[in-house]
Amino acid sequence: MELWLGFAPQLIDNQLFVNALDLKKTVQPLLSADTIWPTRTNRIIVIDPGHGGEDAGAKSILGNRYEKEFTLDWARRLASLLTAKGWQVYLTRANDSDLALSNRVAVAEQRKGDLFVSLHFNSAAPNEDQAGLETYCLTPSGMPSSLTRSFEDDLTLTFPNNSFDGQNVQLACVVHRALLRVNGNHDRGVRRARFPAVLRGQQRPAILIEGGYLSNRREARLISEPGYRQKLAQAVANGIEEVAGRDHEIVVSTDDKNQRSELSPENLQGSSQRPVAR
Ligand SMILES: [Zn+2]
Repeated sequence: MELWLGFAPQLIDNQLFVNALDLKKTVQPLLSADTIWPTRTNRIIVIDPGHGGEDAGAKSILGNRYEKEFTLDWARRLASLLTAKGWQVYLTRANDSDLALSNRVAVAEQRKGDLFVSLHFNSAAPNEDQAGLETYCLTPSGMPSSLTRSFEDDLTLTFPNNSFDGQNVQLACVVHRALLRVNGNHDRGVRRARFPAVLRGQQRPAILIEGGYLSNRREARLISEPGYRQKLAQAVANGIEEVAGRDHEIVVSTDDKNQRSELSPENLQGSSQRPVAR
């Protein structure tokens, strides 16, 4: 799996050196056995279907269909899967309405979300070849971004969501890996960006997923199939359960009968897995 570092590793006297900030903010959280996720059972997630209303997002190469429709459907499918797993789920928009980025952050705040996941599809039009999955989390302070989209990338800035740098990259990697199994490993990597306002104001772990290219014929066809969107939703749900479902391990050891009754063997399986760099 591709994982973008902030700085190119260097070969000094035939030894490979990785920048200390990359070690601290990317490598270490992925290798750490310490669980840094909150131990609670009534977990709240806010899912953000990208775009909506006047803001249609990317246009499919296959005709008059737009990103906003596919992100909403993906979000609804993910919502019902996570609800079945005991999550309290809120969508930033439940219909075809326009919603400012700041309002999407406000919804997560209002609902006291433990997690925030923004869903998008990509476009490289008029380039039809570019394809694959990308998962973004906020760039840690002091690190250059993988993507700037011609926004200024001020390395000195620290945003509220930077308090969750470690959890962001854990969540991004596990969800990304689950998604890659669905799309045949067309991998464009876990990346860092500083400009997405929908991420940087979040007071909780947050990621943004680009689930494929609507400007690529093969991926646009897949994305237009409800069955494929269900697989994408299932992959994200599995990834979220694998990371944030870890608390079940701790709950079991307390031998609390009330909480134990909420556990399913499926949840327990997920909790024993750790995100690792591959
Ligand atoms: Zn988008």
